[in-house]
Amino acid sequence: MEDKILFLGDSFTWGEGLELFIENEKWIKQRELHSEWLQLEVIQDVESIKFREKNRYPRLVGDELNIIPITEFKNGGSFGTNLKFVKDVKIPDLTCIFVQLSQLGRNPLHLTYGCRCSYCTKTHWESIETIYNDILEKKESNGLRYMLDVFGHNEVDNEFLRKFLLFIKWHDRYITELFIEECKKWEQTTPVYFIDSWSIDDSDYWRGYSYINDRLINLTKKDETSTKRWSTFIESFENPYIVDLWPNTVNRHPTLEIQQYLAKSVISHLRENFGY
Ligand SMILES: [Zn+2]
Repeated sequence: MEDKILFLGDSFTWGEGLELFIENEKWIKQRELHSEWLQLEVIQDVESIKFREKNRYPRLVGDELNIIPITEFKNGGSFGTNLKFVKDVKIPDLTCIFVQLSQLGRNPLHLTYGCRCSYCTKTHWESIETIYNDILEKKESNGLRYMLDVFGHNEVDNEFLRKFLLFIKWHDRYITELFIEECKKWEQTTPVYFIDSWSIDDSDYWRGYSYINDRLINLTKKDETSTKRWSTFIESFENPYIVDLWPNTVNRHPTLEIQQYLAKSVISHLRENFGY
């Protein structure tokens, strides 16, 4: 039986934007247009779905090493969706798990989408980032109202902002520690590794956690040397993101070449650690 490997992450692992690399009239034309997911989702077809699934790094790894890669079904992701996927899908025996790190701010406030507290049910598991954006955009929302109540404020003033920013710092730790606890449970049977976050702030933040730091895999740069840091990895390529190749797309997701180098990195890791 073939080995199974789980690849958790966000849109980078899911392969958003890869369809733009299809060499036919439809997608060549699309490279000149605004092509973030909102625009791309509505023009998907069987060919584009197949192309993305065939060319994202989990599948490239699978084809090279003859293993079955398991990825989340939906575009996007956070620790919250990663945990939900593992819980919902009840994945059988795995060789190992790779977690491509994303951004802390996009997690649901209480990390799990299973939380039924009044905040989570009222706001549909809104993230702290959304509340922060509501504040910046001066938008009335259930999430912001809840936060004002918690801190005993009627409106957003400097004192509330000060408390809220402190709360974000506490919340970053809370989410990270809860997620690490889950990883430790998985690790009782299955090794867990991390791929550094594309977000520089988050990448720096998680370096403070030895649990994560010790499990970061080497990323193979264009010159074939390696680094654990995403920013160093990405700087070794001339056009790492789709927007670098086709500026009108405004799509800040990895190019086909980056997906291939991510696959290379994971393959090296698996060869070294599991003898594939
Ligand atoms: Zn909750």
